[in-house]
Amino acid sequence: MPSQLLSHSHGRERDLVDIDPDSATFLPPVAHPEKIVCVGLNYTDHSAESGFEQPAYPTLFGRFNSSLIGHGAPILRPHVSEQLDYEGELVAVIGKSARDVSEAEALNHVAGYSIFNDGSIRDYQFKSPQWTAGKNFDNTGAFGPYFVTADALPEGCKGLKLVTRLNGETVQSAMIDDMVFSVAQIVSICSQFMTLEPGDVIVTGTPSGVGLARKPQLFMKDGDVCEVEIDQLGVLSNPIRDRARPALAKSA
Ligand code: MG
Repeated sequence: MPSQLLSHSHGRERDLVDIDPDSATFLPPVAHPEKIVCVGLNYTDHSAESGFEQPAYPTLFGRFNSSLIGHGAPILRPHVSEQLDYEGELVAVIGKSARDVSEAEALNHVAGYSIFNDGSIRDYQFKSPQWTAGKNFDNTGAFGPYFVTADALPEGCKGLKLVTRLNGETVQSAMIDDMVFSVAQIVSICSQFMTLEPGDVIVTGTPSGVGLARKPQLFMKDGDVCEVEIDQLGVLSNPIRDRARPALAKSA
């Protein structure tokens, strides 16, 4: 229940306003993060299904704000590809600057958590060794629905379960504990090379079951609905729509 989750903000008593989620427009919980750091290959079964050897150092890549949408907004399938894939993931949001923090200190720098669907255009992702293009199409990074403060959750979200459903059918199911690099490890490792700032977003990687690795492959298309659920964090739901084709240039 949204009001329950929203009321978790601790501290002072305050007036809670009942908002009908059906009439609300959800924006990403952090509208303009300075950094969106994503982790690839962070579950061994997903690394294996993707044909990668499990790396000993996290595979980090960036997303830009321009790809973000909130809960309920359509994920757009571009007209240049039919390979739009889902990736359900846990998000950690930084609350306090972090530079050179140890794994033991790292979670003190995390304000809270949310959910991400790291919508990926697979053929563009693998056009080059850098995944930037395939991970940054407009309206492919679904983020939300809520931001839940860390104090309301188990440490590092350990023990929580993640499930992704496409049109109601479960396509991914895993425990957060199965991550190769925990939230604390990722924060510590990132802080070894840059200063993480409040509002920075860390997208922690997806488990097995992605459409690319299925036989036959399963890609998202116009009319589908993709949901990512994590215990205590809610359900991030987004319809899939085709992006309108740009008008053809007139040939006089
Ligand atoms: Mg991902």
